[in-house]
Amino acid sequence: APLLTPAELKALVRTIPDFPAEGIQFRDITTLIRHPRGMADSVRHLAAMAKSCGAQKIAGMEARGFIFGAAVAVELGIGFVPVRKPGKLPVETIGIDYALEYGTDRLEVDPSAIGDGENIVIVDDLIATGGTALAAAQLLRTAGAKVAHALFVIDLPDLGGADKLRGADVEVETLMEFE
Ligand code: AMP
Repeated sequence: APLLTPAELKALVRTIPDFPAEGIQFRDITTLIRHPRGMADSVRHLAAMAKSCGAQKIAGMEARGFIFGAAVAVELGIGFVPVRKPGKLPVETIGIDYALEYGTDRLEVDPSAIGDGENIVIVDDLIATGGTALAAAQLLRTAGAKVAHALFVIDLPDLGGADKLRGADVEVETLMEFE
């Protein structure tokens, strides 16, 4: 069967108003991934994009980036690198602190996961401000990776995340947009 189109996949995303805070339209991918073809075909679209980027490994950010990123890596037969919240990895890590709207957050990676000059493609569920993905790209580059592409199921273009990443020489591709 042909893949579900991005428009058909978009119809499987659930929108929850005022979560986790007043005024936020939460784009919930749990309804997409519990649909068998929603999960599989989202992954197949992302895997085709990652393949044309020449991905040698996939990196995904905790937690929803693990769902799509790990599946894309399996689809392509390449490795997956988890980009984790602080204190989760059992080895000496490198980390990056980055600003959130309120406060800061931190991502960590095991530097031994990354080969020098390896082409690592970032995968996550959604790009909003792009702060998380930019931090992940910078962290992976510090570990020696070439990071030139980031792939997302959902873009919120009004928040400017894709432009922010392009400004750091990371090309962004997404399956769908929500205004
Ligand atoms: P950002 O760093 O601003 O690009 O936000 C990145 C992360 O926040 C994404 O990986 C999402 O998991 C989550 N996120 C931000 N805004 C939303 C939203 N409106 N709906 C669902 N998830 C969101």
